[in-house]
Amino acid sequence: MPASDHANLEQFMEGVKQRNPGQTEFIQAVQEVAQDIFDFIEDKQEYHEAQILRRMVEPDRVVSFRVCWEDDSHRIRVQRGWRVQNNNAIGPYKGGIRFHPSVNESVLKFLAFEQTFKNSLTGLPMGGAKGGSNFDPHDKSDSEIMRFCQSFMTELYRHVGPDTDVPAGDIGVGSREIGYMFGQYKRITNRWEGVLTGKATEYGGSKMRPEATGYGAVQFLCNMLRHSGSEIDGKTAIISGAGNVALHAAEKLCDLGGKVLTLSDSDGFVHDPDGIGRDKIEWVKRLKNERRGRISEYVEEFSGAEYHEGKRPWHVAADLALPCATQNELEEDDAKALVDNGCIAVAEGANMPTTLKGVKVFKDARIMYAPGKAANAGGVAVSGLEMSQNAERISWNQERLGDMLTELMKDIHEKCVTYGDDGDGYIDYVKGANIAGFKKVADAMLAFGVV
Ligand code: NDP
Repeated sequence: MPASDHANLEQFMEGVKQRNPGQTEFIQAVQEVAQDIFDFIEDKQEYHEAQILRRMVEPDRVVSFRVCWEDDSHRIRVQRGWRVQNNNAIGPYKGGIRFHPSVNESVLKFLAFEQTFKNSLTGLPMGGAKGGSNFDPHDKSDSEIMRFCQSFMTELYRHVGPDTDVPAGDIGVGSREIGYMFGQYKRITNRWEGVLTGKATEYGGSKMRPEATGYGAVQFLCNMLRHSGSEIDGKTAIISGAGNVALHAAEKLCDLGGKVLTLSDSDGFVHDPDGIGRDKIEWVKRLKNERRGRISEYVEEFSGAEYHEGKRPWHVAADLALPCATQNELEEDDAKALVDNGCIAVAEGANMPTTLKGVKVFKDARIMYAPGKAANAGGVAVSGLEMSQNAERISWNQERLGDMLTELMKDIHEKCVTYGDDGDGYIDYVKGANIAGFKKVADAMLAFGVV
């Protein structure tokens, strides 16, 4: 990059920092994209003149609202809710809802920004958004969850709709929470419409949606390995998380002959040298979904496994790594440990799980590294297909949707290769995903003029 563009990039980032004080996650997400986009638009005056990137880092709107609810002891509780609608140039806003104590405006702005690129990469007509609340569902009863979801939707319904904004699940929001929110939307509006995705199949949900993010991440990994003449069969893998994405990624890895060594939650991780096969994954699913238990209980059930309290799995030696829990869970030292232990490929099931310094370690070591906006796009892609099925009042079968997901992930991989091939045999998947995602949204914005 020429010195003048370096200066422009620094000036641009300085402006982002000034306008978004203290929003570290959002600034990090913009930083990761800006460098690649500056390189790409260096000789493309139309994007400069229209201030496209400057406009993309300013969300269309950020809605913040109070969520009051009553707990089981009849105490009134107050939470904050948000919906960040980042960009709807190529389709209605689309992105998940997260319920977690760590949720704040910065986290949701970063997620909505990333979502804009991710949704563009899928090739489907979806803009980028994200929402959520600092509500912690972990220690709540089922009726408390219901009351909270209903209260949350009582405000959110004004800002969403099948052609406006279509939320889905994310951390802390699964099919139970989607059901409560969908029911409340239907009650308030008296309309049955595809306003949320990730619904149960009984009322308009798509088959393959629960599996799509984890399966898609492993398919992306497969495509990367295949591109470099390798495959998953016979390889060991470490996975973080024990939620929707982690467990479906684990399932797919097993099906393709991989051996999963670890799973985790926010308290620690389990390492099972014998491998966490299909039966054990089913047991963890029941533990997490039915008993709402902790991953530490795994070692009481399966001898030979070890539990590491307060630790992350990245120092366990393995060929492949899939961070599937949360943002910034894989730091520089973890990345170095992975590389030193011979890891050849990383595919992110979570959004921005690797810090900027961690990403640099992977790139410097020239190992295959797929950022979340590419690797975990399978979830939102099948959500896009759920929107199509709802609009047409039809339901496609598992096999058809599985084939569509495979094709979509292959297509996203190809786009990354097209824009990320450095010409010396190394594919920079971050650059590929950033540029391919940017270009489609930017061209649509150019067509609209100054709006
Ligand atoms: P779930 O709520 O189903 O599971 C999240 C898992 O991550 C749990 O095991 C949770 O442990 C762990 N976790 C959450 N926060 C932390 C933390 N701060 N530190 C350590 N572990 C943590 O969420 P999903 O599986 O749906 O989502 C996981 C990631 O994938 C997120 O980054 C999400 O944005 C991303 N994603 C999800 C998609 C989807 O379709 N669901 C689509 C695309 C991306 P605990 O139970 O202890 O909190």
